[in-house]
Amino acid sequence: MSADATGAAAGAARVNPNAPTEETVLAVEHYTDRLFRFRITRPRSFRFRSGEFVMIGLPKEDGRPLLRAYSIASPAWDDELEFYSIKVPDGPLTSRLCHIKPGDKVLLGKKPTGTLVLDALLPGKRLYMFSTGTGFAPFASLVRDPETYERYDEVIVTHTCREAAELTYSRNLVADLINDPLVGEMVEGKLRLYTSCTREPHDHQGRITDLIESGKLFEDLGVKPLNPATDRGMICGSMEMIQDTKALMIKAGLTEGSNASPAEFVIEKAFAG
Ligand SMILES: Cc1cc2nc3c(=O)[nH]c(=O)nc-3n(C[C@H](O)[C@H](O)[C@H](O)COP(=O)(O)OP(=O)(O)OC[C@H]3O[C@@H](n4cnc5c(N)ncnc54)[C@H](O)[C@@H]3O)c2cc1C
Repeated sequence: MSADATGAAAGAARVNPNAPTEETVLAVEHYTDRLFRFRITRPRSFRFRSGEFVMIGLPKEDGRPLLRAYSIASPAWDDELEFYSIKVPDGPLTSRLCHIKPGDKVLLGKKPTGTLVLDALLPGKRLYMFSTGTGFAPFASLVRDPETYERYDEVIVTHTCREAAELTYSRNLVADLINDPLVGEMVEGKLRLYTSCTREPHDHQGRITDLIESGKLFEDLGVKPLNPATDRGMICGSMEMIQDTKALMIKAGLTEGSNASPAEFVIEKAFAG
């Protein structure tokens, strides 16, 4: 082998095919001192299913990547990628990420994955998406995907936060969907957003688990209680919220599904810890 060829081979060996790509920030919108969303460029080769999450981040001072799991909030058909983020004041990533501006660079992992996907559920009539806090992010993707409405007659998204200002992203997104050229007509009469607050007065009050358990959620929506024959569920929130909501699904006779074994409900934590 020539010296040139040896050099080329050694150079090629150093390239990590799984290394994150560097993407450009296109837009940033802040909602509260704890919440914001941003959009970045999407590489042509980046494929995912609506509802999945991926590792994103920023380079550390030593140049190595600092990555965290993030649900992709945009639908699979979108040319750009959107994320909905918390700002943790002393959080290693978000204390820096919250300062990004259009034109800045963000790292994007290459392997999206997750269980909050339509394929992990058996067919049904009504799809519930239960979320708290940034747990709404995967549902921001799924409510913008036409396939959701092709598979279900009715889609009910619940979003619970402490204060009403924390519901701005979900409320604006769902309200604007009616004007969306792709899914606007599909969502009409099919998609409903049910919001509740736990720490200030709002249209609906309290934890989603209490609203399910008391039957108030179904009463307010004018639908029958959970039924495994017709209803499917997706759950995304804190560990506690997931465990409590999951217990209510099981009590109602629904079984947990996965990519390998689709069933009647699926779960994903919105953050670790
Ligand atoms: C599968 C998965 C999907 C995720 N998707 C998102 C997402 O779409 N948007 C998002 O903002 N975060 C998401 N996260 C959380 C994310 O990975 C980071 O934890 C978050 O960005 C904070 O990073 P950090 O380095 O600043 O602080 P970390 O050191 O990661 O977190 C510090 C502490 O902040 C709290 N915290 C972290 N994330 C949240 C959150 N989202 N809501 C409330 N409290 C939180 C926890 O108590 C945690 O211990 C997801 C996590 C998982 C496991």
